[in-house]
Order: sequence, then C-alpha cells, then structure tokens
Amino acid sequence: MSAPMSRPRIKVSRRPVRVGDDVVRVGGAVHKLAFDVADPDGWLWALVNLLDGSRTVAEVTTAVCTRFPHRPPSDVGAAIDGLRLTGHLVDADEPAPEDLTPRERERYSRSRELFLSIDTGWRTNSWAPQVTLKGSKAIVIGLGGVGSVIAAAFVASGIGHVHCVDHDVVALSDLNRQVLYTERDRWRPKDEAAVHRLRERNSDVLVTGDRRTVDGLDTITTIAKRFDLVALAADGPPEIRSWTNRACLALGIPWVWGGYHGPLMTVGAYRPGAGPCYDCAEAAERERKAAAPARTEWQPAIGEIPPHAANFATVTITGSFAAEAAVSLLIGPPRVPVNRIYQFNLVDRLERLVIGPETRHPRCSACQ
Ligand SMILES: [Zn+2]
Repeated sequence: MSAPMSRPRIKVSRRPVRVGDDVVRVGGAVHKLAFDVADPDGWLWALVNLLDGSRTVAEVTTAVCTRFPHRPPSDVGAAIDGLRLTGHLVDADEPAPEDLTPRERERYSRSRELFLSIDTGWRTNSWAPQVTLKGSKAIVIGLGGVGSVIAAAFVASGIGHVHCVDHDVVALSDLNRQVLYTERDRWRPKDEAAVHRLRERNSDVLVTGDRRTVDGLDTITTIAKRFDLVALAADGPPEIRSWTNRACLALGIPWVWGGYHGPLMTVGAYRPGAGPCYDCAEAAERERKAAAPARTEWQPAIGEIPPHAANFATVTITGSFAAEAAVSLLIGPPRVPVNRIYQFNLVDRLERLVIGPETRHPRCSACQ
C-alpha cells in the first residue's frame, strides 16, 4: 500500500483538472501522461485536493471517508497507491539527497523538474535520477557536429564523468555546425578544445579527453570498459558501429549512435539483451538488399565523397535526440522502446520512423 510515503503530494507538473462535474483529468497537460477518470460523486476530486503534502496517508483517507461515508478506506488507499506507482506523487517529507551538494541541487533544479514530469514510476527520492547521472560514466566517440552536442548535453546534464575521444583537429569548415569550438580553436585538437569548453560549462563533473583513432573492436573495448555507456558519433571507418555494438555486448553496457544523411536524422539506442542488436539489423538489411533488384550507381559519382551536408540546426537535432536517448538508458524514463533505430525527416517534419527488425536475426554473428 502507501507505506513508502510520509506525506503524499501531487507533482505540480501533473496537477489534475476537473472537467465538468464528473470527470477528473489526472496527469497534467501532456498527451500520453494525462488521462481522464470518471468521478460522478466527486470523491476523487476531493482526494486529489487533499494530496498537497500537508497530510499523511491516514489523514487523507480519514478526510475522504468522512465526507464520502460510502467510500471504503481501501478505495482511497488503492487510489493513492495507483497515483504513486504511476509517477504522479512525491513525498513532501523526502530528505535532501546526501549525494548532491546544495550547489548541485541548484544547478540541476530544472533537470529535476523534467525528470519529475516524465517519470512514470515511483521513486523514493525525486533526486534519484540526478544522483544516478552523477554516478554514471559515459564516453563520446567522435567530437564533430553530433558528438559536440552529445558531449555538451552529457556535461550540462551532470553525468559524473564524460570522456571525449577524437583524433582530428578543428577546421574552419567545422564551425558551421560543431557547437563546442570557436575560431580560436582552429587547428587545435578537438579533444583538447572540447575538454576545455566542457569544463567551463560544468566544473562539478569530470571531463577527460583522448586523442585517438578508433581503429578496431579491441580499441573500443579497451576504452569503453571503464564506462557505463557509449555514445558513438563518429561516422567512420564503416565498421565502427558494428565494433561498438560488439564491444558493448561484451561489456554489457548500453550505447547510442547518432548520424544524418542530409535532412534525414537517425539515432539508434541499444541495451544488451533487450532485443535485436545493431548487427541483427545490418544482417536483415543485407538480406533485403540481396533480394531487391540490382542497383546501378550513377557513374560520374563513383569515387567522389561529398562533404557532410549539415548545419548547426540539423546536427543539433540529431545530437539532442541521441543524448536524450542516452540519458533515458541511464536513468529509466521516458520508457521508450530500445534496440531500434529512429529517424526524423526534415523534408517532412511530420515524418518520424521507427525502423529495424523487432526480433534478433537468427544468424547474427554479434549477439548469438
Ligand atoms: Zn544481433
């Protein structure tokens, strides 16, 4: 029942609304978080108005049952527990978290509100997601357009240790999209410039850099084994996503990747054992292409590699989606399906695709 709470309080972001005289809309104003409950005699509306953090569960139950004598205390207890278990309540008496300093609680106050608003389960302390992030260590491979955004999001969000890997230097042509660098950083190694900028953003987390070319499965396994999550934002060599997949499967840690093809933004999010892996999808795609009619490429383009088609706005969308997925993998909510690929097409902003197989490939060489 409601024992985990001392004084239940409805989250302000989920504050209920009475619609007419016989419906209570619980869960605030966000689609898929809010829902309507029939309340013809008004007892539920009375209950939610008592859940303001000033009363114990017993006091709330007594008050409701005194006003609505036909309503058994078990109904009130079940309603409070239902609200608690679906993420609508906090405990007004929750202690300040020992793992966060007053400065950190001020810094992350908006993050706490976000986690409160998207959480669909019960947490004994509303700061728990932030404490989890503080105790997490994440690695960002590739500090270009997408990786810059991911690294900035990780550091600003308070992931306790963010490790930045890149082998390149900052070029003038990077500055149309790579958020971490300025004109002063031209020719400077990206890992060095990124670490400098990220430490300025948040000195309460550890930011480290690594000037390194990721050239194989062993390299990724070696650098990822001290971390809880990998964010891959490098687009080469071609095998790098498969290497990352295999390394994270072996280490048992989640990973995300983000990329784009002109206006098509793509993000993958994977948790080992939660479904088909990246190489399952690749195996299925190879079979699909083998069964499709033969393709003939445009001859004048053979051998030409066009430069990245991207600007600040497009890479920021991809990087933000990837970073949000990574934080979700670390803390839980929002509970989106993982082990899938998400695409967002800027040509038609209404088009959002979820692609990839729903089951493991029977001949995947990575996850069998
Ligand atoms: Zn697989």
